[in-house]
Amino acid sequence: MTPLAEVLRRRIAETGPMSVADYMAECLLHPTHGYYTTASVFGRAGDFTTAPEISQMFGELLGLALAQCWMDQGCPEQACLVEIGPGRGTLMADALRATAQVPGFADATTTHLVEASPRLRAVQEETLAGRAVTWHDRVEELPDGPLFLVANEFLDALPIRQFRRSDDGWQERLVGLRDGALAFVHADPRHEPDLAHREAETRPGDIVEVCPALSPVVSRLAARIAAQGGLAIFLDYGDWRSIGDTLQALRSHAPDDPLAAPGQADLTAHVDFEAIARTAAAEGAAVTEMTPQGVFLERLGITERARALLARLPDEESRRNHIAAHRRLTHPQEMGSLFKAIAFHRHSTPVPPGFDS
Ligand code: SAH
Repeated sequence: MTPLAEVLRRRIAETGPMSVADYMAECLLHPTHGYYTTASVFGRAGDFTTAPEISQMFGELLGLALAQCWMDQGCPEQACLVEIGPGRGTLMADALRATAQVPGFADATTTHLVEASPRLRAVQEETLAGRAVTWHDRVEELPDGPLFLVANEFLDALPIRQFRRSDDGWQERLVGLRDGALAFVHADPRHEPDLAHREAETRPGDIVEVCPALSPVVSRLAARIAAQGGLAIFLDYGDWRSIGDTLQALRSHAPDDPLAAPGQADLTAHVDFEAIARTAAAEGAAVTEMTPQGVFLERLGITERARALLARLPDEESRRNHIAAHRRLTHPQEMGSLFKAIAFHRHSTPVPPGFDS
C-alpha cells in the first residue's frame, strides 16, 4: 500500500467517502505524497511521454503559431507569452528557441509559467536556465496585457467528479472503503441542475463527468482575452461532451487501476471540449472549432518541418526515431485523433493558424 493510500483510508474511515475529484487532487498534488509533488516522476525520467517530449517540432510549431497571432494582432508591446502546466518545460524551451527568429517578438513579450508543483518548477528552471521566466501559482497572477497562451495536457490533470445516471437522478461516484481497501461506491441519487443538459442523451447506468476546476480557469482567461487581446490554445485528449468513465491511471507507462497506487500513478481524465467552448463563449471570446491534433499540426506545417529536420540527421537510427515521432504526433491511430486542439481569441482578431476560419 502506498503512503498516500494509508492517509486516505484513515480519512475516509473518519469522515466518509470522498469525491473522485478530491481523490484525484490528493493523488496529484498532495504536499508530501502527490504524484506531481514527489520525486517519483523524475526517477523515471521518461514518465512524461507527452507531445512536447516526443519531438521538438511540437513546441516549435506552437511557439510560432502564438508568434503569428501576435503579428496578426498588430505586434502589441508588453504582451505575455504564457504556458499553463508546463511539465518539464520542454514545450516552452522549444517555443522560445523557434520564436527568437520572429522580429520583435522576444522584445515585446515576457515569459510566464503557471505551475502548481514546486518540484516541477525546479525541473522547469533547469530546462529553461538562462531564460527570463516568471512563475505563478495561478492564472489570476498573470500581469495585464494580451496573453499568448498555450496549455498542453493541463486540463486533463484537473480533478473530475463522476455521476451515474439512475432512474431517480444522478448518483455521485465516490471513493470509499470496502473490506478496508479503497473502492468505488455510489451516493444516493440526487437532482443535479448542472447536469440538466445531459439528461436527454443518457440512460440509467451511464456515467458522465464534470470538471469543476475547468470553468474558473477558462472563464478568467477568456474574459481577459476578450478584453485585452491575445489568445489561448488548449491541447488535450478528450472529445465534445464525452460519455463514460474516462478516469485513467498510468504507472511506469502502463495502465493501472486508479485506486491501486494513489500518489504513484499519473491520474487523468478526458477533457470535455464543449465545456471549454461554452465557458469561453459565455465570457465574450470567439471560440474556434475543436480540431484533431493531427489536422492542427499538419496545418501548422509539421510535415515541412519534419522534412527539414530529417535532412540534417546524421544516422539511420535517429532518422527512424524522427519519422516515428512525426507519426506519433499526427497519425489518427496514434495521437492525431484522440488529442484535440481548441482556441479562443478576441472577436475582432483573426482566427489563429491551424484552425478553420
Ligand atoms: N504540459 C506538459 C505537462 C503536462 S502534466 C507536457 O505536455 O508535457 C500537467 C502539468 O500541469 C504539470 O506540470 C502539473 O504540475 C501541472 N498542474 C496540475 N494541476 C495544476 C494546477 N491546478 N495549477 C497549475 N498547474 C497544474
